[in-house]
Amino acid sequence: MAAADRPTILVTGGAGYIGSHVCKAVARAGYIPVTYDNLCAGHAWAVRWGPLEGGDLIDAGRLDEVMRQYKPAAVIHLAGLIVVSESVKDPAQYYLNNVNGSIGLLDAMRRNGVERIVFSSSAAVYGEPEITPMPETHPQQPLNPYGTSKLMIERVLQDYARAYNLHSVSLRYFNAAGADASGEIGEAHPVETHLIPLVLEAAAGKRHSVAIYGDDYPTRDGTCIRDYIHVSDLAEAHVLALRYLDNSVGAHAFNLGNGAGTTVREVIDVARRITGGTIPVRIEPPRPGDPAILLADPSRARRLLGWQPTQSGLEQMVSSAWDWHQRVPVPQQIMV
Ligand code: UDP
Repeated sequence: MAAADRPTILVTGGAGYIGSHVCKAVARAGYIPVTYDNLCAGHAWAVRWGPLEGGDLIDAGRLDEVMRQYKPAAVIHLAGLIVVSESVKDPAQYYLNNVNGSIGLLDAMRRNGVERIVFSSSAAVYGEPEITPMPETHPQQPLNPYGTSKLMIERVLQDYARAYNLHSVSLRYFNAAGADASGEIGEAHPVETHLIPLVLEAAAGKRHSVAIYGDDYPTRDGTCIRDYIHVSDLAEAHVLALRYLDNSVGAHAFNLGNGAGTTVREVIDVARRITGGTIPVRIEPPRPGDPAILLADPSRARRLLGWQPTQSGLEQMVSSAWDWHQRVPVPQQIMV
């Protein structure tokens, strides 16, 4: 398809880890992804499949300008702050960015006649699991302001669908992992808090050790179980969500997880095998609000979106992350 015939999709946060993989998937599906990002955590080098437009979510004038220029067929909204512990210490920032910012974006969509949005939500909207694996109907009692900020926007989206015909899919991510097979893009957060990149930094000798937060949980080896999902599989679900919105009205939510659980120790063991590094560990107290097991029931996304993860084996996720880790210009000075 000629570039002029391809519909554009506005991707907020398109310069980030998940956002850059989403842009690649969206471009492959025949759209032009227009990244809207303030680069507070993303990288200009990660924007490779469409234009980069700098801007804040709370800048209504800038949003109007970009929407008028590109006339997006839909928005994929990933921009937001994501560090749970930071959200506990400084909730104001999280509510301002993730809630006010998202509402500003929705209102810009209404002003500019854009009627469909795919929203990057999180398993953090559920809180302590009452049922495992968790279906979308699981009670929603977030344990921190980050999760609350995501839940608030899901609720706003329900009201906006009814009142303004603004239709949405909220995608509740479990633990995104891995990197695109090409090695072009991958995970590179300014402050790293996620298990797999921390483990790989230890494997590469950039950290003395990796912390295991709690080894006395009621799980098969005492460490937390999480549901890791390859970021490229996650990205593909956004394309399917766009297609779903072509034929559905209302506000919808889907879990994006593998449905399979992996312990912290299992991640470290696989990383030792793949990297050949020793990866020394130290046992630390559990992080507040970290449940023993977080596992998705992904059957709704499979049934209604036709989503089928293909790259989410643990080995594949860790080895693609390791390939990326060896290329990316991550800081070398982190010795903790
Ligand atoms: N974790 C850990 N050490 C670390 C970082 C994380 O033991 O340095 C554990 C954490 O307690 C959780 C799992 O690894 O059980 C995944 O944590 P991550 O921060 O990657 O994602 P989250 O599940 O918090 O979204």
